[in-house]
Parts: sequence; structure tokens; C-alpha cells
Amino acid sequence: MSIEALAKDIAKIIGKENVLTKDADRQSYSYDSAVLEPVIPAMVVRPTEVEQLGLLTKRFYDAGVPMTVRGAGTNLSGGTIPDSTDSVVILTNSLNKVLEINEEDLYAVVETGVVTSVLAAAAAKKNLFYPPDPGSQSISTIGGNIAENAGGLRGLKYGVTKDYVMGIEFFDAEGEFIKSGARTVKCVTGYNLAGLMVQSEGTLGIISKAILKLVPPPKASKAMMAVFDDLIKASEAVAAIIAAHVVPCTMEFLDNTTIVMVDDYTKIGLPRDAAAILLIELDGHPAQVEDETNTTIEVLKKCGATNVVLAKDQAEKMKLWEARRMALPVLARAKPTTVLEDATVPRSKIPDMMRGIESVANKYNLTIGTFGHAGDGNLHPTILCDKRDKAEFHRVEEAIDDLFDIALKLGGTLSGEHGIGTAKAQWLEKETSKGTILFSKKLRKALDPKSLLNPTKQVNMYE
Ligand SMILES: Cc1cc2nc3c(=O)[nH]c(=O)nc-3n(C[C@H](O)[C@H](O)[C@H](O)COP(=O)(O)OP(=O)(O)OC[C@H]3O[C@@H](n4cnc5c(N)ncnc54)[C@H](O)[C@@H]3O)c2cc1C
Repeated sequence: MSIEALAKDIAKIIGKENVLTKDADRQSYSYDSAVLEPVIPAMVVRPTEVEQLGLLTKRFYDAGVPMTVRGAGTNLSGGTIPDSTDSVVILTNSLNKVLEINEEDLYAVVETGVVTSVLAAAAAKKNLFYPPDPGSQSISTIGGNIAENAGGLRGLKYGVTKDYVMGIEFFDAEGEFIKSGARTVKCVTGYNLAGLMVQSEGTLGIISKAILKLVPPPKASKAMMAVFDDLIKASEAVAAIIAAHVVPCTMEFLDNTTIVMVDDYTKIGLPRDAAAILLIELDGHPAQVEDETNTTIEVLKKCGATNVVLAKDQAEKMKLWEARRMALPVLARAKPTTVLEDATVPRSKIPDMMRGIESVANKYNLTIGTFGHAGDGNLHPTILCDKRDKAEFHRVEEAIDDLFDIALKLGGTLSGEHGIGTAKAQWLEKETSKGTILFSKKLRKALDPKSLLNPTKQVNMYE
């Protein structure tokens, strides 16, 4: 069937205003948020009812059209870049209803395209808390969060998206409806297919709804900034705080390059001479927060912090977090190309990873700004470069190889939260095994015999 005929057919399901075939529309959905080459799809469709997802998937499957589902497109690993110019992009941003916030049983039911911060605000209105908070939360969707198992600033204490998934409804490649999990804390009915969908990057099915755990909000919190004149001392302090049995809800790291660029832009008044700062927030019962604040300050000083600044009020606290949230956007302004990496190591290995990043920057003569969720060992070395400079970009590619090698040698992982997509697919076997790649391919072939769901992501089904 020609794409024009298919578009007419699809318009009968979702209305012709939701079938986008103009060049400009198709171009708008050809990319992710990283630096990978865009691929313009044949068509973009925007269902407005979750049930339409199943009907659409079946039509596209029958017609043999590759499908890429897209939430907000904020992923950083190529996940939403269409696999070919014959592909269709399925947009979920109109499937955006918060269906239930349950105050008695502490859960939410949402459609897949609900924006993360919208769910968090809906929960907060009822004095409940949805902790996963990726830096992109003001635009990213719950479907995208689940498909990438998104983390965030609060991962250290509260965990990541997978820790909040109680149930998922989805459609498989052939449009069959599947339901896994329940509104109960315990549910062992059938395979844990909801778990299988977490981190599946649009390759195993299209999520339509999710049941997500909510928790009571903490009663008190305190934020502080610790200043260090030595990068390694700052990274040692991270492990020392946890070793003192304090688990902050957030413990973020900014190196000097990032501090200076954030301060230039925001004029927040960060310590521009510092080699690194740690931004720390403790939360919980007021007495516990008080106690843990004292312990944390003691540990920070023992580890060589030259200054520890406690946020006096909400406004000062917001300023500290603004510094962290601005890290990526500000680094991204510095040079035409920003390569944001996501290598993650066991927390105790952060000092070694930091040394590794420094040596890679020197070896390849590159500017690398590093920030990230230090408490999780999840650092974001961010290479500032210009992709048009071929010689420089070749050095960047070599540097990335080295960074992954260092992380893996330290017992870490290729990706703490940004996923594999196409960006990191070539390194997957290095961290896992040949068998893992084969198993993943067999699984996908069984569930999607024509290999139409995001076929080149995670493992390339065309190879
Ligand atoms: C400024 C910035 C900050 C970020 N900070 C963080 C962070 O702190 N932590 C973190 O983990 N990530 C972060 N990210 C990465 C990204 O925001 C997350 O991965 C997020 O979960 C993606 O959500 P999305 O709605 O944009 O998904 P998309 O980018 O649209 O999609 C991501 C993947 O999920 C699949 N997918 C989307 N919807 C569905 C669905 N309904 N069913 C099945 N598959 C689906 C897509 O096919 C794709 O493979 C950041 C990105 C940016 C640009």
C-alpha cells in the first residue's frame, strides 16, 4: 500500500488533522535531543484516545511499516529517530490525561503522554509525592520515562522510574492489548510484563497507560552547597557521606568548568574558583533532617570542604537547584555541539572516574564539563565541541570509547539513565555478552516477527 493510501486509511481512525505528512511536520519529528543525524519519517500520527494506539499499530504492522513511538523526544540516545524514511512516528503527546490520584491506596493512573511534572503537581495537590524527577521533567512524558527507566536528582534515596511502576497497559507490535500489574502493592499474576516494558525503548510494545506508586511527601528538608578546592576530595566526600549512613535525597556534583559557565549565565554567585561543588539536599522527619545535616557537615569538613553554605530559606534552596538544573543548558550554549555522556560507576569509584575523565580530556585536548548525580555514581561528562571540525570530532569519538572503557573497568555501566538507543548500541556487547545480544534479538523476533518496533534501537534487528 502506498503511503498516501495508508495515510487515508489511518485518517479514518484518528481524523485527518492527526495525520501529518507535510515536509515541515515530518522534519519536526526526525530527531532526538542528542547530536545524532535526523531521519525524516514518511508520516507522523497523533492518536487522541489510547485505544487508537492498538488500531494504529495493527494497521502499520499489517502494512509492514516500521514504527517509532515518541513522547516528548527528549531522549539522548537516538531512541526517537525513525529507523528509515519509510517509518512512521506515533506521537503520544495528546494521550495526556491523569486518570486517577488515589489518596487511600497511594497510586496514580495516567495515560502515557502525561508530562512528568504534571503528574508530580497533580500528586502534590493531594499532598502526595511522585519522586522521579529527570532534568527534563517539565516536558518529558511518563511513557518516555518508563521506556528509558528515567532517573533524576532524587534517585539516590527514592530510586528511579522502575521503582514506581505498579502496572502497565500496552499494545504489542500487532496491536494486541496487554495488561500487567495492578493497583495493589503485591501482584504476581502472570509474567512481570510491566517490568519487561521498563527500559524497552519502544522496541517491545507501545505503552498506553501506567499505574504508578505515590508516597507521602517528606515533612522537612535542608539544602546545602559544599565547596572544594580539589575535585578528588569532592568525589571522596560523596562516598564518605553514605558511609556515615546518611542518604541524602539528592547529591549533585559540578566541576569548575560547569560552575563558571553556570555562574556566567545565571549570576547566582557560585564560588568560581572552586574545583568542584556538591549540592546536597536531605529530607525526612525534621529531627532526622537536623541530625543528618550535622553529620553531613562534619563529614564534608573532614573530607576537606573549604566552605559549606546552608540554604537559609526556600528562595536560597531554589537558587542552588537552579544552578544544577542550568548545568546542561548552559554547557550546551558554549560550543555548537554538546556530547553528553552518561557513564556510571559504583559510588566508591567516583574519584577514579573523575581522574579518568581528566586524563581523557588532556589526552584528546578536549573541553569536558562534568556534572551529575554523584550520589548515584552517575556522572555526565559533557564534551564541548564542534561536529563540523572533523579532526576534533574524531578525537571526541575516541574519547567516548576511552570513557566507556574506564567506566566498565571500574565495574560501572555504559548508561545510568539515558538508555542505549542507537547511540550506544555498538558498546552493548562489551558491557554484557554476545549471548545477551542474541537473547534480545530472539525475544524481539518472537514478539515482533517483522521487526517493525523501533528496529535499530538497543540491538539492530536489521543486522
Ligand atoms: C535537558 C535534559 C535533561 C535530562 N535529564 C535526565 C535525567 O535527569 N534523567 C534521565 O533519566 N533522563 C534525562 N534526560 C533524558 C530524557 O529526558 C529521558 O530519557 C526521558 O525519560 C525521555 O522522555 P520523553 O517523553 O522525552 O521520551 P522520548 O524521548 O519521546 O522517547 C524515549 C524512548 O522511549 C520510547 N517511548 C516513548 N514513549 C513510549 C511509549 N508510550 N511506549 C513505548 N515506548 C515509548 C521512544 O520510542 C524512545 O525510544 C534528559 C534530557 C534532557 C534533554
